[in-house]
Amino acid sequence: MIPFIDLNKQYRRLEKDIDKAIKNVLEHGKYILGPEVAELETQLAAFAGSRHCLGCANGTDALLMALMALDVKPGDAVFTTPFTFFATVETIALVGATPVFVDIEEDTYNIDPLKLRQSIEKIKSEGTLKPKAIVTVDLFGLCADYNRILPIAAEFSLPVIEDAAQAMGAGYEGKRAPSLGTIGCTSFFPAKPLGCYGDGGAVFTDDDELHAKLNSILVHGRGSDKYDNVRIGLNARLDTIQAAILLEKLKVYEEEIRLRQRVATTYMRELDGLVKLPVMPQGYSSVWAQFCVMSEKHSAMQQALNDNGIPTARYYPIPMHLLKAMEYLGYKSGDMPVSEAVSKDIFALPMHPYMNDDDIKKIGRIIASIA
Ligand SMILES: *Cc1c(COP(=O)(O)O)cnc(C)c1O
Repeated sequence: MIPFIDLNKQYRRLEKDIDKAIKNVLEHGKYILGPEVAELETQLAAFAGSRHCLGCANGTDALLMALMALDVKPGDAVFTTPFTFFATVETIALVGATPVFVDIEEDTYNIDPLKLRQSIEKIKSEGTLKPKAIVTVDLFGLCADYNRILPIAAEFSLPVIEDAAQAMGAGYEGKRAPSLGTIGCTSFFPAKPLGCYGDGGAVFTDDDELHAKLNSILVHGRGSDKYDNVRIGLNARLDTIQAAILLEKLKVYEEEIRLRQRVATTYMRELDGLVKLPVMPQGYSSVWAQFCVMSEKHSAMQQALNDNGIPTARYYPIPMHLLKAMEYLGYKSGDMPVSEAVSKDIFALPMHPYMNDDDIKKIGRIIASIA
């Protein structure tokens, strides 16, 4: 049995420090916005290269807070990718805005900047919805193409919300996710590259005003006094215990990113010529949230792996525009051809920093027997 993600191996490595950190919170008793939260925010901001970071309850709340801080509302069009996890799109709908899907690039699976421009121009010329923001996703740990996206965003005066739920610390041209957009969002869901032991997330920005607004939204739209509420907000705080756990995990995260890269490189060697492999464009470094490959024979490959006690997963079997929850938007099959083609044949292999070469080779042999 090869685990899909081995959180236990990581816990065994950090056990003493994590147990101590949790006990310390239980002793000092500041369970809500204790000192560990502020310390984590400082360290994460430095890690990402952002001026500000705010911990929050999960990645979905991070996205929701970002949309709220940018006053996204009914009548607004928000441009995003259909090849993502539902939370990216769900939050746009939650604030009453209209998700406008822009198909992905075949090699990176991220939003296609050429189609983004076309889509913004189309919405502008139709005149029904107001172009308001772009939500990019750094899918599977690889950044979207910001050198091409940001100039388009600037040209149309649209802020960019970077959904880096899968990409904390991913590299792009000397910068790091989630510092590439106007507001960056990440998740500390246990299975994400940097995960806690429950739900957690964070928002990042260089903008002082947006930071102040996010900080207010985080706690019921608080003003200078917490009973002087100045806007509609949320209860979206990050727990102190989760922050304490994350501070311990952050100490080894840089090393874990390198270990993930090593696993990915080994996979690339073992699977060369057998499946369509993930790309690593110049100037990018992935944090490998997932190692996803494509094959027309994916069902047989997944079955053979499963028969050998090796779990696989499908990210994502249904693109967002074809989900029942998005039916009201009126998209149909064929509207996003690249996303639809990729979603048919893509599947994810086990990926975590502590995978050994023998397990990767075994996976390679099983896939080779089908390919
Ligand atoms: C996981 C994920 C989210 C949501 O994060 P949660 O912490 O689970 O709320 C949002 N977007 C993407 C792309 C994700 O993978």
